[in-house]
Amino acid sequence: MDDTLFDLPFFEDSHRELARELTTWARDNYRDRVHRGNVDDVCRARIAALAQAGWLRYCVPGNAGGALAKLDSRSLCLIRQILSYHDGLADFSFAMQGLGSGPLSLFGSAELQAQYLPDVAQGRLIAAFALSEPDAGSDAAAMTTRAVRHGDKYHLHGIKTWISNAGIADFYTVFARTENDAVDGVTAFVVNANTPGLTVSERFEVCAPHPIGTLTFDDCVIDASQRLGEPGQGFKVAMQTLDVFRASVGATALGFAQAAADMAMDRAQQRPMFGATLADQQITQAAIGDMHTDIHASALLIYRAAWQRDVLGQRTTKSAAMAKMFATEAAQKVIDRNVQIHGGLGVKVGHPAEMLYREIRALRIYEGATEIQQVVIARETMREHARGDNT
Ligand SMILES: Cc1cc2nc3c(=O)[nH]c(=O)nc-3n(C[C@H](O)[C@H](O)[C@H](O)COP(=O)(O)OP(=O)(O)OC[C@H]3O[C@@H](n4cnc5c(N)ncnc54)[C@H](O)[C@@H]3O)c2cc1C
Repeated sequence: MDDTLFDLPFFEDSHRELARELTTWARDNYRDRVHRGNVDDVCRARIAALAQAGWLRYCVPGNAGGALAKLDSRSLCLIRQILSYHDGLADFSFAMQGLGSGPLSLFGSAELQAQYLPDVAQGRLIAAFALSEPDAGSDAAAMTTRAVRHGDKYHLHGIKTWISNAGIADFYTVFARTENDAVDGVTAFVVNANTPGLTVSERFEVCAPHPIGTLTFDDCVIDASQRLGEPGQGFKVAMQTLDVFRASVGATALGFAQAAADMAMDRAQQRPMFGATLADQQITQAAIGDMHTDIHASALLIYRAAWQRDVLGQRTTKSAAMAKMFATEAAQKVIDRNVQIHGGLGVKVGHPAEMLYREIRALRIYEGATEIQQVVIARETMREHARGDNT
């Protein structure tokens, strides 16, 4: 792995130390990125190991047993980059603990934080984030799941789908319509998986398997104290959580791309071809040049966005969208080139190059598809232009 990226000026020395320690730990713990066996069991084991080594403590703030006082975007990105370089499911397990509990860290009452977050950091509770619905994906505001208030209880009705960790999660952060049909009529709740009226109504497989499925809420009654933030603040909760984690999706893509680039280099230098090696062919060198430039450009965008949030304390709507979009699209190209360099081996089921090819694809769709990021970047830029920021 090209660790010169950790020299970027966006990092403190503590980040470089974190990167060094995690790299050593991941190298010792993950030898083969192609996992076998039941995916639920694999993910539970990943969570237990990440908790035991202390890495999950970066998913929650210091007052709830976290490693640092506040969620630190650069640490989250570094951890995801390094885990995804070695093992996609380790990164997935880490990310979902953070994303599923992020709304609690940012908006939960002191009681809710104390009740859930220390157990998230210790791997005793598994978290999930339930925003998407069958007819409300990219257009999340079209959600129809409702939470109707009766006294100090809310009654939930509706369906959430594409929910990662469905079936193994102990609790779900759920977004439901409480007030009206406007964007600001959505409220966030934390719902325990064993609440009567909540069922995992479907499990399905995606091309890079992880636990995922559909939740049905059929008069699922929860206490009003399970609400996150104020009524009608649900979109703010979702968007501020995604603000923290969006750049980290780019970091996962970066780790995948680095794994592919290293694999490509090993193969190209070893593969005899036309009296030399594959790496000696200039067309291969053009590919290697492009792959590494894409990797460095991705790192710059990701860590700029993370630094802006951590150090400047700014909203990173535009820079995180750029980082997520560029890094995931670039990683797809890098990973495809790695398959090409491997020839037939690159499409052999169970080969790490083929595994990466499956692992990267969904990143261009979830947490805002590339087209959504394009629109976000354009709208922010038009707003800046109208304010005269760019003239
Ligand atoms: C592996 C995986 C894990 C996921 N995990 C979770 C989770 O844990 N929790 C959760 O809540 N959700 C999760 N999701 C859901 C994810 O967020 C949605 O899939 C995503 O928001 C896209 O919604 P959709 O699938 O309904 O596609 P649609 O909304 O139907 O979009 C289809 C396509 O339309 C295009 N598009 C979108 N907007 C525009 C536009 N303005 N102009 C032109 N084209 C456009 C994009 O290419 C997009 O891919 C997951 C999805 C996947 C695949």
